Amino acid sequence: MDQKLSTNQLIAIAQQFGTPTYVYHAEKIQQQYQQLTSAFANQNVVFFYACKALTNVNILKIVHKMGCNVDCSSINEVKLALYAGFEPKRILYTSNGIAFSEIIEAQQLGVNINIDSLSNLEKFAQEYKATYPVGIRLRPNIMAGGNLKISTGHEKSKFGIPVEQIEDVLNIVESTGLIINNLHIHTGSEIKDVDVFVKGIEVLFDIIPLFQHLEVIDLGGGFKVPYKEGDGATDIALLAQKVGEAFANHPYHRPLQVWFEPGKYLVSEAGYLLAEVNVLKKTKATTFANINTGFNHLIRPMFYDAYHKITNISNLSGTVSNYSIVGNICETDTFAWERSMNEIREADVLVFANAGAYGFEMSSNFNSRFKPAEVLVMNNEAQLIRKRDAFDDLLRNQIEVL
Ligand SMILES: *Cc1c(COP(=O)(O)O)cnc(C)c1O
Repeated sequence: MDQKLSTNQLIAIAQQFGTPTYVYHAEKIQQQYQQLTSAFANQNVVFFYACKALTNVNILKIVHKMGCNVDCSSINEVKLALYAGFEPKRILYTSNGIAFSEIIEAQQLGVNINIDSLSNLEKFAQEYKATYPVGIRLRPNIMAGGNLKISTGHEKSKFGIPVEQIEDVLNIVESTGLIINNLHIHTGSEIKDVDVFVKGIEVLFDIIPLFQHLEVIDLGGGFKVPYKEGDGATDIALLAQKVGEAFANHPYHRPLQVWFEPGKYLVSEAGYLLAEVNVLKKTKATTFANINTGFNHLIRPMFYDAYHKITNISNLSGTVSNYSIVGNICETDTFAWERSMNEIREADVLVFANAGAYGFEMSSNFNSRFKPAEVLVMNNEAQLIRKRDAFDDLLRNQIEVL
């Protein structure tokens, strides 16, 4: 049975903690993880939660307790993961474009590291030689055709070491003795087509024989979850089947472990954003419902044109008509245009679905508004896990020199 919070639970949380508030459902996160581990039960696969999706330390503790590892995209995320109780071996730092000093720090903390540039790889190799095995993040997309030397030139992604520079990687390995134990690719987010992962594996199969100390193939994250009614998701069972087949059919008998780094898949559907209607405004074009949040709290609709399902949980049987759901900040912050909704009245509570991933995490204090509170529901009990900002938070770190 799909783990979901009921309307009554959400209404009660809005009343108890106020709005706007993010709500996370622990059992749903566990259910998503269960789906991954059971699909891959017969394979040597390990999951690292890409925690940039949601880093509240209580969420990290839930992830830790359920046995999942963690993937970090900054040294501070690494430190948060350590703080939450992850042992260094269960932490992966997939860096991109970072200062070398952060890589040194990560090495000193003893975590797994994926390095994404020749420059940092060279520095790392000079410093640590064969003493600290690392992974490399590759940019695989340009490999259409399967030839290591092809440079298509159309690829403009900043991420990873372009695969046509693999010779340079090999030169570094040869001259320093650096041990490369992991080949990593992360092709993007919301990948519904499992063949994208299979193609990634095929690209890596060309490269695997070049690295004799390889232990891990890291296929990144990007599993899709449904946002809209009728939206598809990444078929995890099919993915598991195809990954299994790809490895069964390939000629290398080294027992490589496969890593995945799901972010959104684990926490998106576990999250809800509760907001309240400030003002209703009828115009010729549309009827606006101005709610007490904006892109300062949930930027995905404006930043990615993302669709979030919105429900008026204060009036579930209200007559349906069209509303445009907009925020309360001085900037165009349209969450939904002419969305079919149950009748909206001022002070009604609206809930956004799929708000767990890249929701609170991308929030700001724009317009000097407070960041929302965060609430965790576990065993049907709702607990505050982050206070709403208060006025002092806006002045914290400011230095008055006048
Ligand atoms: C963001 C990110 C992920 C997670 O992506 P999702 O779409 O949230 O699954 C995984 N790996 C790396 C390296 C990332 O940067």
